[in-house]
Amino acid sequence: MSACSGIKPHDDSNTSLGYLGQSATQWRDHINQSYTHAERGQTTILFGGLTLLQDRLVATAIRSLGEKYVALPNPDFESFRTGKSFGNRGQCNPTYFTVGNLVKYLQKLRDEEGISTEEIISNYLYVTAGGCGPCRFGMYLTEYRKALSDAGFAGFRIMSFQHNEGIFQAEDEQESYQFSPKFFITLIKAIIIGDILNILGYKIRPYEIEQGATDQALEACYTLISEAFMDKRNLTHAMWQCRKHLEKVKLNRLQPKPKVMVMGEFWAAMTEGDGNYNLHRFLESEGAECVPQPILNRLMLSIWEAEYALNKQRTLPKADAKSIEFGDAKSKLMLKMAKGAVKVYFTLYAKAVGLHDYTLPDIDALSKLSEVYYPLDAEGGEGHLEVAHLLESIEHNLAHLVLSVKPFGCMPSSAVSDGIQSLVVSRYPSANFLSIETSGEGAANFYSRVQMALFKAKQSAKEEYEALETPTTIPDKLHNYLYQPTNHQAGTAAQLIASLGRGV
Ligand code: SF4
Repeated sequence: MSACSGIKPHDDSNTSLGYLGQSATQWRDHINQSYTHAERGQTTILFGGLTLLQDRLVATAIRSLGEKYVALPNPDFESFRTGKSFGNRGQCNPTYFTVGNLVKYLQKLRDEEGISTEEIISNYLYVTAGGCGPCRFGMYLTEYRKALSDAGFAGFRIMSFQHNEGIFQAEDEQESYQFSPKFFITLIKAIIIGDILNILGYKIRPYEIEQGATDQALEACYTLISEAFMDKRNLTHAMWQCRKHLEKVKLNRLQPKPKVMVMGEFWAAMTEGDGNYNLHRFLESEGAECVPQPILNRLMLSIWEAEYALNKQRTLPKADAKSIEFGDAKSKLMLKMAKGAVKVYFTLYAKAVGLHDYTLPDIDALSKLSEVYYPLDAEGGEGHLEVAHLLESIEHNLAHLVLSVKPFGCMPSSAVSDGIQSLVVSRYPSANFLSIETSGEGAANFYSRVQMALFKAKQSAKEEYEALETPTTIPDKLHNYLYQPTNHQAGTAAQLIASLGRGV
């Protein structure tokens, strides 16, 4: 059945596959998305699966709206095993991690906190993004329901918002409570702030003199932002206040560390835990500086895809033209407003906290860059973005290594993007690119492949730095995170020295 349309399949529950004489029963997806206004005060909303900081920020932000809201713990290998034991075979490992994580949490409520299954089913619900694929993403919601049912929580509510509708999901003021534009705007503000603090954290942490100082400063920032959400205070001002904590972190930024762009399938590249073998922290422990992909990239891609689809509608037969034109204009305006709002908030918060050298990706420009390699009509996963990121990195010298991380057998990423990346790499043989899969089992092979690519990246970072003339006196400003010059060097240390006009 289609997980997207909600259309019921024809009744074939008596169908026998004839396998060893056993009969098989057709799986039925019992969709329960009811959440009424009356239930609001007694229902706890569960959510999770973003970065560590974002999960916590989102939890506070949504609690500030009066919702009972809990961020699930970070998915770990036990979540993966739980997901595998209750899930269908052949799913992507983000499903196993996230579904298993939810099952594990509900089991804990039942077995350790003594809450009955009936209470859990009636007083809790889980919110996640849904969509129509075209890859296995379209099956995620069904997977959640199937695993929960098999784990003894049949009827547990999985609420979804379509990832391509975002803040435009309508609020129904009647009986059924739905997530309002206010809910989504608050959610997106928390995600934007989380993205900005994460980007800064990854820029600062590799150069800290006192180990753990950056994480402490980020924790102080989290407290400031959480208080601002709860007290309904100005978030821009709270971001400005974060500067004093971040500036306290003493840095030595003149270490020629390799810069590693981490991209790939959304969840595998973004998660900070067992889902990608703690890749970001592993890279830092190996002496690298990570350039993570913000979650907003995915949001901007979704907006771009919606705009692209609207433009394509113009090519439909004339018979539908009138209704399409009307719908077109309204939808286009809303998409434009959404894109504008995200950019304005991002710029405002980024400037306030002192992230000067980063702008949100221009998906139009990235599409133009990649369209000769990747057909823009092909959606799924990160679409053309993976190829575009590699090309962008090559063209603008953004990193010494580009890592594309994806779950084992990811359809859009392993099967499509990586095929195209081999053509890109054959045309740019100097590019240091590694595509790597996570299977949820066996980290040794994963780490060893990353280390091999990192060796080359370290050499490049060192050569780039040593090609510059280092002055005898180094101005203090070079070690302040607020000083972020941009030039054609990839490494931070080389960028700083080149900014003094001492390049040779
Ligand atoms: S993008 Fe890849 S990992 Fe994600 S749902 Fe699709 S096939 Fe699975």
